[in-house]
Amino acid sequence: MAQIVEGVSRTFNEFLLLPNKTSTECRADGVQLVAPVARYAVGEHSRLELLVPFTSAIMQSVSSPALAIALARHGGLSFLHHNRPIAEQVADIREVKAVKAVTDRHQLVDAEKRLRVGAGVNTHDYHERIPALLEAGADALCLDSSDGYSEWQARALDWVKTRYPDVVIGAGNVVDGQAFEYLADAGADFVKIGVGGGSICITRDQKGIGRGQASAVLDVAAARDAYAQRTGQYVPVCSDGGLQLDYHVALALAMGADFVMMGRYFARFDQAPGAKVPTADGYVKEYWGEGSYRARNWQRYEQPGTGLTFEEGVDGYVPYAGDLDEGLAVTIAKVKATITSCGATNLRQFRDTARLTLVSDQSFQEAHASVDIRTTLN
Ligand code: IMP
Repeated sequence: MAQIVEGVSRTFNEFLLLPNKTSTECRADGVQLVAPVARYAVGEHSRLELLVPFTSAIMQSVSSPALAIALARHGGLSFLHHNRPIAEQVADIREVKAVKAVTDRHQLVDAEKRLRVGAGVNTHDYHERIPALLEAGADALCLDSSDGYSEWQARALDWVKTRYPDVVIGAGNVVDGQAFEYLADAGADFVKIGVGGGSICITRDQKGIGRGQASAVLDVAAARDAYAQRTGQYVPVCSDGGLQLDYHVALALAMGADFVMMGRYFARFDQAPGAKVPTADGYVKEYWGEGSYRARNWQRYEQPGTGLTFEEGVDGYVPYAGDLDEGLAVTIAKVKATITSCGATNLRQFRDTARLTLVSDQSFQEAHASVDIRTTLN
């Protein structure tokens, strides 16, 4: 008989943070958002860190070179997608690497002062794709699959780690501690969390697999901490998908994510590849899932042996949000304000001291304005 896992599958909307005491040194302008990407020995530093804990999704409709450049300038990282010929992905990596930054903060640029960029890879053609991406200068790789708890990913990790022991490569996606351990043991530098929570995702409707993103993050982060204690290896985890509101980022970080990956959020900006379309209510941008027939990302969604026989994603629109620089600056300000209210000055302290409460339906209603609003809130 099937086993029923303890606990309900919960998502971010079901939680709020309780404020902690804010000390005088705890100011938004002093909050550090540095986050590790690559695994490291406990007590040491990660060889790849982000200045802000944001990565953009491995999707056609999200991570263009323009978006990667804009995000890297803020200290985040884009993963350019792999659902296309190797030469095209390589050309995009080269386009980003051709940009020299006017800073030498190595947490932000590589040794040659070039902006950092990541690349998605799959478990099919990595023998050819990975050498070409590394040659082009990719700073980090990520195995991209809707279900990463597989021998295919372990094999690919083994292949990479044998040939390129210093290359940063993440794996996923997973939703529980068991799957995290499997990929950590297989050599993943970071593990990505999330099945079925993405805004364009219909995996749960189609296949009945997945887990509420909050439960998934809490479970995997606990496994990461236990793994670090047992092995002395800290393997960062990334919460991928399902972040609908800015404060969900803070919740994911409080629940233990080292950094987040977002698709819908970035697809709204000028720098994302989707067309900007006028409507009666203002502009929207195209945003489509990798498992939609439009993207046809069979490397991510193929059912072994049968190919891509049904969709796991939709093709739609998101409200246009203007320039990334302005939008991301506001989101970063909100995350810092939340961290300050929770009495912390960095991400580690934030999650070590965060107190979360479950939200009833009634208190969820109470959270929203209950007057007719004259101005638009961002
Ligand atoms: P969002 O930030 O909620 O829009 O979610 C983006 C994430 O959804 C991506 O990083 C992927 O993990 C996942 N994703 C991308 N395309 C699809 C799809 O077609 N179906 C299911 N999940 C998808």
